[in-house]
Amino acid sequence: MKLRVAGIVRESVVDGPGFRYVIFAQGCNHRCKGCHNPDTHAMDGGYVVDTESIVEDIEKNRYIDGVTFSGGEPFLQAEAFIDIAERLGKVNTNIICYTGYTYEELMESKEVSRIKLLGLIDTLIDGPYVEESKDLGLPYRGSGNQRIIDMKSSLSEHTAMVVASDLQPMLGY
Ligand code: SF4
Repeated sequence: MKLRVAGIVRESVVDGPGFRYVIFAQGCNHRCKGCHNPDTHAMDGGYVVDTESIVEDIEKNRYIDGVTFSGGEPFLQAEAFIDIAERLGKVNTNIICYTGYTYEELMESKEVSRIKLLGLIDTLIDGPYVEESKDLGLPYRGSGNQRIIDMKSSLSEHTAMVVASDLQPMLGY
């Protein structure tokens, strides 16, 4: 399956705990004021990669602690990220996914692919970047409105289960 990306970083230490393989989706419709990645907005920017080759690349990298989907807006290409997440299920890695939507917006959209992707990730970091709430002290987030959500308990409790700011215990470090 094809995925349009702005870029891939193979060993990031800033997009979640540990060394992470980060896939930056190309295309974003949120237009947050003060966005740090405006080059990721155009739906026809970036370049196209094959999801199978991304997973092969991840499998070859023995040093990563997990995978992060970032952007851009990953949920605009939910099908391709579902394909990656399903293939990764076999190698048992944890997945963090960023989105400019809120958890509630994604659930209420009733779009099958968006809800399916939510069920395949471990952690959602949600909400747009709000410049007025900018906080450089927050781990893994840019503004105070953004939440770190444990997806497995959220789906079983039918509400966003927000975790404390430290992701390490949740992901087993
Ligand atoms: S969701 Fe992220 S990439 Fe999209 S406009 Fe907001 S800050 Fe920028």
